[in-house]
Amino acid sequence: MIKCDKCQARAIIYQKYSGMHLCPTHFEADLLRKVRESLRETKIFAKGARVAVALSGGKDSATALYCLKKIFARRRDVEILALMIDEGIEGYRPHTLEWGRKIADRLEVPLVVKSFREEFGITTDQVAVSRRAQAPCSFCGVMRKTLLNRTAREMGADALATGHNLDDEAQTVLLNYLRGDVERLFRLRPGRVLPGMVPRIKPLRKVPEKESATFALTHDLFPRDCGSCPYVDEAMRLEVKTMLNDFERSHPGTKYSLLRGLDRVLEMRPPSGFEPLRCSRCGDPCGSDLCQSCRMLEAHAGAKALSANEK
Ligand code: SF4
Repeated sequence: MIKCDKCQARAIIYQKYSGMHLCPTHFEADLLRKVRESLRETKIFAKGARVAVALSGGKDSATALYCLKKIFARRRDVEILALMIDEGIEGYRPHTLEWGRKIADRLEVPLVVKSFREEFGITTDQVAVSRRAQAPCSFCGVMRKTLLNRTAREMGADALATGHNLDDEAQTVLLNYLRGDVERLFRLRPGRVLPGMVPRIKPLRKVPEKESATFALTHDLFPRDCGSCPYVDEAMRLEVKTMLNDFERSHPGTKYSLLRGLDRVLEMRPPSGFEPLRCSRCGDPCGSDLCQSCRMLEAHAGAKALSANEK
């Protein structure tokens, strides 16, 4: 039996980067410490706050919700809510919605569900079958972000928490460098404040994926039989993921180094008082006259009209 380096109980995980074997109790304490550290850096919880957690139906967002509930159990000035988006993906989303409802029920968190169909009059499945509009994943990603922000704003949330873990964050940093898009790095600033945008926080940004998965498994937060989205198209991210995992194996701590590097870059450029424009159609903050979501909806409407004319 491999023993915990802190208490001699049976270890359930080995952290190569720290050289520690940890038992369930010390593993949970370590994970919650990392979450607390990330939350402290956002400075959102110094006084009371209402936080909406975006449940995706996966293990990470369920773990994030569980941790937030646990950490703020005694803070009566902190309110935790959950929200889910139904993008309209048959064979995938209905199971994950059911799973999200179960988790929210179990953790006694009020859940709000919004759908593309009701909010935008179109689903990701419909976009996927149309021949002229966008790729389903591009459409879905943009519309999902918009709807999450709008819903969190309607809920009066001071922050929108997502389940992004250390691996996700390190991959994004590296991807942005590989694409030469350094400007995008600044969008990763935790709790970034922009008018009209609910500040985003990532409680698991210092928690490796393996640890988030182990936590979800040992706390019955791991979704079962939910499958994965049929449209997932992340070829480049997958390559980066494989490369980073290989590197982490031979150089433990690489993912943390990438995150530390990002934090140093963010420190060097303090948040600016950037005032975004407002979309002339929906009023959401954006960089030009029309926001990306309205452009996409317009493109799809155009594509629909074109194919109707062709018939
Ligand atoms: Fe939407 Fe793409 Fe995610 Fe599927 S993988 S839910 S299409 S963003």
